[in-house]
Amino acid sequence: MNIAIYPGTFDPITLGHLNIIKRASRAFDKLIVCVMVNKSKTPVFSSQERLEQVRKVTERFENVEVDFSEKMLAEYARDRNATIVVRGLRALSDFEKECQMALINRKINPNLDTLFLAASEKYTYLSSSAVREMVQFGVHIDDLREFMPREIIDEVVERILHRR
Ligand code: ADP
Repeated sequence: MNIAIYPGTFDPITLGHLNIIKRASRAFDKLIVCVMVNKSKTPVFSSQERLEQVRKVTERFENVEVDFSEKMLAEYARDRNATIVVRGLRALSDFEKECQMALINRKINPNLDTLFLAASEKYTYLSSSAVREMVQFGVHIDDLREFMPREIIDEVVERILHRR
């Protein structure tokens, strides 16, 4: 069984992420979407919230499992018997950082390779931070539907505009 991991911060999950999940789930027997800790980011949503959001929007994919880990990716992959990491590439600016990460992960875990999926042109300019900014500026829900899975729009708006 070939098992792949799609790791990310997902703060929050966007239609760009979901597009990668959909395509990667077709390519592997099992895809583990793992909410991870990125030491250079301070997420707006807690790990529990991000985990629940990702779960909610990926329910329909039978071979997709959602998890959370604070471990290093290479180590987590070893624990889960995964041999492939899936990452999305939006622009050339993603490339350097992603390439570096892929090489480091393979150095630590030689069985682990990274496969890049080119972002769908529809979502090339989409990021979680752009979504958060649109919400902060009060972009209408109808427009947010172009960028965010509809199941989580209300809670994301509520949470960002009325921070608990
Ligand atoms: P990380 O902190 O690990 O970069 P992100 O949630 O920002 O977490 O991104 C997770 C992965 O999803 C990365 O490989 C990123 O390039 C990819 N990604 C983010 N937004 C998009 C998008 N709009 N289209 C395709 N891939 C994307």
